[in-house]
Amino acid sequence: MTLHEFSGHRKQTRMYVFYSFLFLASLSRIAARAEWCYQSQVTCEHKCEGPSEWPKIASACGGNKQSPINIVTKKVKMEGSLPAFKFQGYKETFHSFITNNGHTVKVNLSGAAQINGGSLGSTYKAMEIHFHWGKNGEHGSEHTIDGEQYPMEMHLVHIKSTYSSVEEAVKDPSGVAVFGFLYEEAESSNQKYDPIINALVNIPFPDNRTSLQSLSLDSLIPDQTMLSSYFRYEGSLTTPDCAESVIWTVFEQTIPLSRNQLSTFSTLQFDNETAMVGTFRPVQPLNSREVFYSGCTVVSVNAVLVVGTIFTTIFTLNTIK
Ligand SMILES: [Zn+2]
Repeated sequence: MTLHEFSGHRKQTRMYVFYSFLFLASLSRIAARAEWCYQSQVTCEHKCEGPSEWPKIASACGGNKQSPINIVTKKVKMEGSLPAFKFQGYKETFHSFITNNGHTVKVNLSGAAQINGGSLGSTYKAMEIHFHWGKNGEHGSEHTIDGEQYPMEMHLVHIKSTYSSVEEAVKDPSGVAVFGFLYEEAESSNQKYDPIINALVNIPFPDNRTSLQSLSLDSLIPDQTMLSSYFRYEGSLTTPDCAESVIWTVFEQTIPLSRNQLSTFSTLQFDNETAMVGTFRPVQPLNSREVFYSGCTVVSVNAVLVVGTIFTTIFTLNTIK
């Protein structure tokens, strides 16, 4: 081998190493991006990483402050210092898009609507809405209360107002504040949800996107006077990378939707052309965390029942005499 040949050979080897590296890098990127899925998608034909495998994709998913959780009301800590939230811009109407991203449907928000109060310690801005649901209106929420899974759950994702994206905010242990709203099946349809429900038929497949009729955040959530009762705990995002940087607020007041409205979400499709159903992560261990409870609605209802029972007993005893 001449000196010239040797140098050419070295160049070729370097090129080979470089292209191999590019190839491997692109492979690992594809694997990291495309492979997580919900349990409902795991079949013999369709191999993907279901929730129990997520820690392999993102180590944080195996952490000890993960979400969602089952909230055991008997064990929550009453916290009188959890005040109501202050909502700004929630009544303003906005125009946006709704997207089927292959895992859920999401609505991007501008950050114009903001929250503070609620013991959050900072102002947070609303960046995104997305949903988790079951099959045809059956069990599909992520958080459960005393083991009960609701048909659907909405996540209203806020980030500290000083950040510009969720990706940036997750680096801060309290960078993200998510509001979780649970749904309950109702006899009649909830017309406030027409803009969302009507848009779903236009986005059946992943990467489909359509514009939404104008709506306000206020129209999608219970009346603000009903939002002083909530559960609070420290947790994570519920999809990979499962970053443990979320202050969770799960409201006690549910949102009513008819069975038909709930079922419309099941007409959407995942990547592998199967029905997009069961889009929830199973509940995670609480570990050493505490769940706080702001209000006393449940207790006062019980108290009314107890007082009522005492009165009835006294009355009955007096009548017997
Ligand atoms: Zn979510």
